[in-house]
Amino acid sequence: MLVFKFGGASVKDASAVKNVAQIISMFPTKKKLVVVSAMGKTTNALEEVVDALCTNNQESFRYLVEEIIKYHLKIVDQLFLERHEGLIAFLEDIKESLLDKISKPISEKYDYEYDQIVSLGEIISTKIVEEYLLDRTISAKWIDTKQFIRTDNNYRNATVDWNKTQELINTNLLPLFKSSDVLITQGFIGSTPEGFATTLGREGSDYTAGIYAFCLNAESVTIWKDVPGMLNADPKWFDRTIKLNQISFQEAIELAYYGATVIHPKTIKPLQNKNIPLYVKSFVDPSASGTIISSVTEFDHLVPSFIFKMNQIKVGITPKDFSFIVEENLSHLFNILSNAGVQINLMQNSAISFDFVIENKPSVIKDLFSQLENDFIVSIEEGLELVTIRHYDQATIDRVTIDKQIILTQKSEQTARILMKNVK
Ligand code: ASP
Ligand code: MG
Repeated sequence: MLVFKFGGASVKDASAVKNVAQIISMFPTKKKLVVVSAMGKTTNALEEVVDALCTNNQESFRYLVEEIIKYHLKIVDQLFLERHEGLIAFLEDIKESLLDKISKPISEKYDYEYDQIVSLGEIISTKIVEEYLLDRTISAKWIDTKQFIRTDNNYRNATVDWNKTQELINTNLLPLFKSSDVLITQGFIGSTPEGFATTLGREGSDYTAGIYAFCLNAESVTIWKDVPGMLNADPKWFDRTIKLNQISFQEAIELAYYGATVIHPKTIKPLQNKNIPLYVKSFVDPSASGTIISSVTEFDHLVPSFIFKMNQIKVGITPKDFSFIVEENLSHLFNILSNAGVQINLMQNSAISFDFVIENKPSVIKDLFSQLENDFIVSIEEGLELVTIRHYDQATIDRVTIDKQIILTQKSEQTARILMKNVK
């Protein structure tokens, strides 16, 4: 059995959906579980709906809901030769149930409300894809992932209950393959034991594919993307990028850890545990080879990878009372940082100071600094870039540091990390 994942870009309009059907039909002899994200930028649009609802901005709320439904209606209109009454009624129902919310008292719990609304993006996209596949006489069946992926109730970033999920998949999902070749389901969503929708964190559909592959002992997972595979750098920051033909699970985990965004970081571990290969392939050129991620490590060092983090800020901390930076101070510091929800991208300490690098998000930083300043002298340096090079050598370091002032360098055997800023 194969697990496929199609992200938002691969279903962003009618011709994209047709292409998905084309790809699915390229593998006629295999059973497939297909995970689909919300169409195009629907998740972002639904986030705006939640904000409008929670701030009681009625006019904007209605407008946003109308626009989302219109966008999907247009895709439906272009996909089918005849008016698809079933899908039109389905979309109208969702619109009514959303519009209904503005006239009712809303739950105080923002994250709960967010998950109930934002998860609709995937519910809609999968329904449309299912109907289109059926129209093309592909034996497809829509399934509600909430029946299978069980999570806790940590809304917006729910944790999967693996035992329960495995049990639900064994008992209720596996038998469905007897009568269907293709099961279509939603990425990104799970459900609490009470049946409320949860989400697994933005861009979580890859992770969903990993969960299903693990529980189904799939032969492989393929993530279909608008790029030819995993590249050695983000083309946004780097020209002359190279495709990584084959890397190991461990290498993929390292790259994701340092900030490569091609695959959701949680996706790899379940696949690695069962040695299920992951292919990253182009939906534009589906027969091209893409990237293979597997247990094979021998090709990891062939191509250096570059991961850029822009808009970084270096924060330097010195205790006010002239004490050293030792365990006690550090644990207090890490507490403050973890409560503020900041992610440390790089850190370094000496006897009397501790430096860390984080993304410069004004909303988070103001709060954080006011807390730190109670106990520490805080100094900052803004406008920095952090580049991580896997499998570096001097030439690759020279290449990225041209016209830059190096603020700090950390090297281990395989990884160089350089904090730098533009020379003015
Ligand atoms: N639709 C969700 C998002 O945009 C999940 C995903 O695309 O992976 O975050
Ligand atoms: Mg998406």
